Amino acid sequence: MSDSFTIIVPERVMIPEEEAHALGKKMLSWLREKAWVGNPLPGCILTRELGYRLTKNAAEIILPEDLPLFSWVADHCDQQVYGYLAIDVADELKVVHHSGQGGITSAVCPACGQDIGEQYYDLIETWWNAEGDENVICPACQQPSPLPAFRSDPVWGFSNLSFQFWNINARFSENFLAAFAKELGEPVRLVTGKV
Ligand SMILES: [Zn+2]
Repeated sequence: MSDSFTIIVPERVMIPEEEAHALGKKMLSWLREKAWVGNPLPGCILTRELGYRLTKNAAEIILPEDLPLFSWVADHCDQQVYGYLAIDVADELKVVHHSGQGGITSAVCPACGQDIGEQYYDLIETWWNAEGDENVICPACQQPSPLPAFRSDPVWGFSNLSFQFWNINARFSENFLAAFAKELGEPVRLVTGKV
């Protein structure tokens, strides 16, 4: 069985560590106030030890479709759930959230509108190896742009702060994403995939 993930990733890259933790805590409080996540459960997700169970309330409000219960089979965690949330602040300031299986098929430059395709990997590597958050140069038009400004398919994310929903088995509603971004105070993107 493969695991699917849906990650809400801020557009902003390299968020100072303290601020990233504070934003993560703020969003957890918001989600708990809404009763969309329950108590933390250990051992339920792949990336971190602690995951927050999504509630039935969340399944009804966050997700647009009528969901069947998803059965998770893992150590300590053999129960019926709607999915899990992990809020992650990476140890490194630079992070690439990719879509798991399969690669990028297109990436459109924000300056010239050309699809640079797999050359986007080179730009990601250049960004990754640079000191700070430096703009990358489009191979088609030679214009510098921020790395996340390229529109890639599938969408990848580059922030060190991420909200990782595991096995939610559906797409988020636009309303939920808009409310999430408003509460966070900055725009976000959605990265989905499977491992
Ligand atoms: Zn260009």
